[in-house]
Amino acid sequence: MADTWGFILTGQDVLDDPGAAWPVDRPPLPHETSLSGVFAAGDVRRGSAKRVASAVGEGATTIPLVHRYLGGFAVPKTPARLGGQGVSLPQPYEIRVRGWLGDPIRSAFPALRAQVDSGDTVLTGLLADQAALYGVLAEAEALGLELIDVRRLPPHDMREPSS
Ligand SMILES: Cc1cc2nc3c(=O)[nH]c(=O)nc-3n(C[C@H](O)[C@H](O)[C@H](O)COP(=O)(O)OP(=O)(O)OC[C@H]3O[C@@H](n4cnc5c(N)ncnc54)[C@H](O)[C@@H]3O)c2cc1C
Repeated sequence: MADTWGFILTGQDVLDDPGAAWPVDRPPLPHETSLSGVFAAGDVRRGSAKRVASAVGEGATTIPLVHRYLGGFAVPKTPARLGGQGVSLPQPYEIRVRGWLGDPIRSAFPALRAQVDSGDTVLTGLLADQAALYGVLAEAEALGLELIDVRRLPPHDMREPSS
């Protein structure tokens, strides 16, 4: 599934697009397209920074996601169905950083949606596991961002900060 300009939808964008009927009973992984198990990275992906370094980085971060998929990643959408299965669900997180982030910096967090709230940036989205969360925090540190708050939201509670 692509947007009006032909860029391929991935991750949360797939769920948000009414035309991209997500086919399986789990949320798409970051960089996963509307075709389950098919991933997109680089210029072709909607939201990418259209830079060489970003394309290389996205390719690198997609590899473990492919491994995760091939390793049998299968997550039901309904938490109630998880009982006793020992399967880790992607969890919604909200990460607040000081100030408004421009496009190049926001593109470092392809799995997260950025919104302005009282002059700060609130990054929200589903992260596959704690490793993914630490990866985001490491990226924030590398970019010199000032962390204000990091919290895990209740399932399906993706709040819309006021602009
Ligand atoms: C003129 C120009 C100048 C730029 N300058 C800079 C710069 O200074 N710094 C910077 O960081 N970025 C720059 N960019 C952006 C940078 O080139 C891209 O962001 C980067 O190359 C994206 O990498 P990619 O692997 O996603 O896509 P690409 O590099 O476009 O690679 C995609 C590859 O897939 C191939 N392909 C397409 N369709 C098919 C198919 N059906 N089957 C098989 N193969 C296919 C293409 O031939 C191509 O080789 C510039 C871009 C342009 C156009």
